[in-house]
Amino acid sequence: MTAGDERFSLTRFLAARPDLRSKLGAIKAISSRVRTNAFQLTRECNLRCQGCWYYANKMDEGIEDQAGLDRIREILEERLAAGITHALVVGGEPAIYPERLAVFARTLPFLSVATNGYRKIPRDGFEEVSIGLALFAGYRSDDAYRAIAAGGQRFEGLFRRGLDNYRDDERVTVVYALSEEAIDEIAPSVDMIEQNGNLVYFSYYRHYGEDPAETAKATEALLERALEVAQRYPGTVLSHPYYIESLIRGETPWGRFGYDGCATISSGHPANATRLSSGRPILPGFESYAQDLTTRRLCCASGDCANCRDSLALSSWLLVNFKEHVRDAASLENWIGFADSYWRGFAWSPLHRSKAGREPAAARGGEAQTGATAFVA
Ligand code: SF4
Ligand code: SF4
Repeated sequence: MTAGDERFSLTRFLAARPDLRSKLGAIKAISSRVRTNAFQLTRECNLRCQGCWYYANKMDEGIEDQAGLDRIREILEERLAAGITHALVVGGEPAIYPERLAVFARTLPFLSVATNGYRKIPRDGFEEVSIGLALFAGYRSDDAYRAIAAGGQRFEGLFRRGLDNYRDDERVTVVYALSEEAIDEIAPSVDMIEQNGNLVYFSYYRHYGEDPAETAKATEALLERALEVAQRYPGTVLSHPYYIESLIRGETPWGRFGYDGCATISSGHPANATRLSSGRPILPGFESYAQDLTTRRLCCASGDCANCRDSLALSSWLLVNFKEHVRDAASLENWIGFADSYWRGFAWSPLHRSKAGREPAAARGGEAQTGATAFVA
């Protein structure tokens, strides 16, 4: 069934469901204000995580950091003039360079930063910044994957350190990469995050066992547990069941996630020209930049599409395919529930729990800042 099919009318459905109509209005409002570009801020990192695609793909080589603060401001002003309102800053480790981050925070309306949690991003000057704090596999297993210093020495307590840095910090959503290897750690990890006053959004690090049948069984068990934990901690786990299932299965009833439909490819990268000509949607104006902040990367992640379950990429794929969900009540309800939960994950979003009942932050420039007040959740 399609959007135009007589058997399902979006207008009729929304007229009967004012709760969903109001949510959809809020989602559309924030979606229209946010135009994202991703930036790898630096080639430096204080860690060397196992499975880090940035270093595994030698993205730190051959391109220097853009370290000039005035030049960073100029670059961002150019992006702002092109309609970009949101920077997603990744690494290396962005927290190593707060002075560069401060230029982002001052220049663009919205800033989100992905961090490993070892160093705290200060509050002063970063009050409205959304922080994605990494967790891999679970509170116990995380050290085995991530607590490896740049010099190769192992240490303990990285996730605990991140939690301590961001206790009761409403800016933080933990981005938790689930793994079949640590299913029993999901509930206690989420419990720790809840006790710490933060939110959590799931991503997925796929585990390949030697026996495909065993791996498939473990993946089903992972999905089941993730859904169960999301239901048990509704105030802390943002991820909607529809998203969790799409993330772990890598497919939905209307399509399989991969390069052909990926929404977070750089629109100006020549290698994406054929894909873009297919007309399948991407995030409007999306670009992903290397650490000089001007060289385009292929996409927001590694470029290894067969194994990609990047949470931004997966979420964006679902977001831009709204039309695929205007086919029946259940599909539409899933999309609205998912999109609402996605936007609640950013500290600067009017849908974030810290904004409930208060006016959104004052505009810091750009047309896209207008008209949010009516959409505070
Ligand atoms: S913290 Fe991030 S950039 Fe640094 S090694 Fe780990 S995954 Fe790579
Ligand atoms: S690696 Fe992931 S984000 Fe990059 S193009 Fe492939 S599917 Fe998209």
